Amino acid sequence: MGTSTYELRCRECGKTWGNQPRSICEDCFSPLEITYDYDSLRPRISRELFASRAPNIWRYRELLPLPAGFQPSLPVGFTPLVGAPRLGAKIGSRRLLIKNDAVCLPTLSFKDRVVAVALANARSFGFDTVACSSTGNLANSVAAQAAREGLKAWIFIPSDLEPAKILGTQVFGAELVRINGSYDHVNRLCSQIADEPLSGERGWGFVNVNLRPYYAEGSKTVGYEIAEQLGWRLPDNIVVPMAGGSLITKIKKAFDELILLGLVDPKPVKFFGAQASGCSPISTAIKQYSSEIEPQRPKTIARSLAIGNPADGHYALRAITKSGGWAEDVSDPEVVSGIQLLAEAEGIFTETAGGVTVGTARKLIQQDRILPDETTVLCITGNGLKTTDVLADQYQAETPIAPKLAEFEAYLAAKAGALPAAVAAASTAAFA
Ligand SMILES: *Cc1c(COP(=O)(O)O)cnc(C)c1O
Ligand SMILES: [Zn+2]
Repeated sequence: MGTSTYELRCRECGKTWGNQPRSICEDCFSPLEITYDYDSLRPRISRELFASRAPNIWRYRELLPLPAGFQPSLPVGFTPLVGAPRLGAKIGSRRLLIKNDAVCLPTLSFKDRVVAVALANARSFGFDTVACSSTGNLANSVAAQAAREGLKAWIFIPSDLEPAKILGTQVFGAELVRINGSYDHVNRLCSQIADEPLSGERGWGFVNVNLRPYYAEGSKTVGYEIAEQLGWRLPDNIVVPMAGGSLITKIKKAFDELILLGLVDPKPVKFFGAQASGCSPISTAIKQYSSEIEPQRPKTIARSLAIGNPADGHYALRAITKSGGWAEDVSDPEVVSGIQLLAEAEGIFTETAGGVTVGTARKLIQQDRILPDETTVLCITGNGLKTTDVLADQYQAETPIAPKLAEFEAYLAAKAGALPAAVAAASTAAFA
């Protein structure tokens, strides 16, 4: 693999930097991203070529920064895009679809996509140790894929992460460093470590610091898959949860590339960003018609999205506003209700970030920013089994009964007499 021509380019001054583990332009201190030679790619790719390959992210290999000779060892991605008619009926959309990265492999979040592309490059840059600052899912994915690739992993997290995300990192044998502070503190420390390689070491490949431009390209595969799964068409609207703001900008880049390469017909797509109200620097700026992103101190159960100073906030804001989209945010009770709504309506169990997406979509439909007959895709990015702690007080532990028919009949009778109205009201109260 590794057949494309690509290199780093400054997002602001346009200077190119070849391929190296670097994320900031030395001349103007703006972020770098990967640019491709699209003219040379155009005759070499087609819908048929991609469709003829195995269903995973590597089928789009020409559009990813993969070093020469790279051989993937895991079939990452190509998650289901499913119609969501029952959820749609509940929140007011007749053409609602779920892109279900709650079942992304190997670690049940969309972060598997970005890590796969980052690690492909870590090896070729000569790193034998990879690292990251993480709000949880990235930690799981780096730890798992490093184990798979025989790389050492150092993972830095805020100390208050969900137990399942901590255990789901340790089990892979990664070194886990818990930091007393927010993600933004953790990330600043990691930038310092990445800048000053520890003495006697070759330095570490931080997937979301010095390898960030390569990592970020992995998110484009969500966009390619959605277009292919819609029959090489683009949706009218897409709702995307935002932490650092990278995913939403990269889905936009993916759609733009598909249009540029003639793989889909040009079509405006509105981008909608979703955040938790307790950490909403991007949606707050958009709602105030401001182009300045004010950093926040996160306080929300949606810990995977709890980045108070989003690295790609400006680019996310620009992508959303230019597309004619919007952003909203939801309270913690609305996040829990969003999780329950999706689970009960469609049988999909998402984590808090997915609750944010569902709750935000509901709000946007109520505001008539998303219309019922438009094709709308919700990006569900993580799995509910990792954040069960937020549901702990939502369900009662049923009292056990004896394995006797009479007991079951008594149980049914008691149930019929007791519950209905109060329970139904409680589960929808947050949206009232
Ligand atoms: C990291 C993450 C996001 C957001 O990613 P950004 O690219 O930083 O905006 C969304 N959902 C989940 C579950 C995540 O772990
Ligand atoms: Zn520059």
